[in-house]
Amino acid sequence: HEKVNRRIADGTPFFSLEFFPPRTANGVANFFTRLDRFNEGGPVFVDITWHLGSDPSNMSKETSSSSIAAGCLNYCRVDTMLHMTCVQYAKEQTLKHLEQAKAIGLRSILALRGDLPPETSEESPKTVYQYRALDMIRWIKEAHNDYFTIACSGYPLGHPEAPSYRADLMYLKAKVDAGAQLIITQLFFEAEVFEQFVKDCREIGITVPIIPGIMPIMGYDSIRRIAKLSGLTIPENILADLEPIKHDDDAVRNYGKVKCVEMCRRLLQNKSAPSIHLYTMNREGNCREILQELGLWLKRPMRTLPWEPHGANHPIR
Ligand code: FAD
Repeated sequence: HEKVNRRIADGTPFFSLEFFPPRTANGVANFFTRLDRFNEGGPVFVDITWHLGSDPSNMSKETSSSSIAAGCLNYCRVDTMLHMTCVQYAKEQTLKHLEQAKAIGLRSILALRGDLPPETSEESPKTVYQYRALDMIRWIKEAHNDYFTIACSGYPLGHPEAPSYRADLMYLKAKVDAGAQLIITQLFFEAEVFEQFVKDCREIGITVPIIPGIMPIMGYDSIRRIAKLSGLTIPENILADLEPIKHDDDAVRNYGKVKCVEMCRRLLQNKSAPSIHLYTMNREGNCREILQELGLWLKRPMRTLPWEPHGANHPIR
């Protein structure tokens, strides 16, 4: 939090990166090798999603959100924020998760409600509590005072379940008033959407940093799936651009990169964003190139990792 504020006060743009926990034990080794390389670029922090499928709090499982966050912090030595959802746990359980995060050494939590299971779900019904992110932020403050830096989510187009954009904005203000020190936004496709959101937040007295969550388009099917899951509509002009190239993965990735750089450059230049938070989807290529083009990637030479026989210049990189 202090590091973020210092960088914002300096006026030097920076970046942070979101990862989800890898799904397999093999994936864990690859994940940390990749993270080590990302670390060379100098992210101010990384954050790890709370992935229900990974049994997120289980420290004896190497693929759990908590184990991965512990590895990022204690092994890769990068400031790490752990996401945590509360809607599917009793309050006591969430308090245990927070204790555990403290024991690992974590100092930052992204406090979230979490998604409700779809009503049509054929899976066995899961217990869902009435808790929201606002409740969790209050619990963190009650139980841990200022120990944790608390971040919360923000929705530039309003959360799909919110009664209105305005109601969602007021709810965001309540989360900040309860103790959230940083807002990270849901992905969006147009710079104006974020600019307007920041303006609206400032107008109602939200003063904390608002960091845009940026998802570069990496694939035609994947971005459509993600947009659908997030309740977002991909703008017509982007769909029209993608239509003739949708079967050419390289062309789509390249388009995604160009669009992303263009949007981020605008947000950084007009100062609506102090930094860029990249949803990496655990992928390396596009993200690194985007950060390099934006001039955010530190120009440190790549380190040869001890377990890489061919070192930094190996062609598979
Ligand atoms: P909340 O901020 O609690 O809001 C939930 C809804 O309640 C909103 O519609 C809000 O407007 C409404 N609401 C509640 N009270 C009021 C009120 N008094 N007035 C008006 N409206 C009200 N999901 C995961 O499972 N794991 C993750 O790691 C994860 N990471 C995420 C990271 C980011 C940056 C974002 C933006 C989302 C992430 N999500 C994650 C998805 C998130 O869990 C879902 O979007 C979920 O539906 C809402 O969670 P929330 O914490 O944003 O909810």
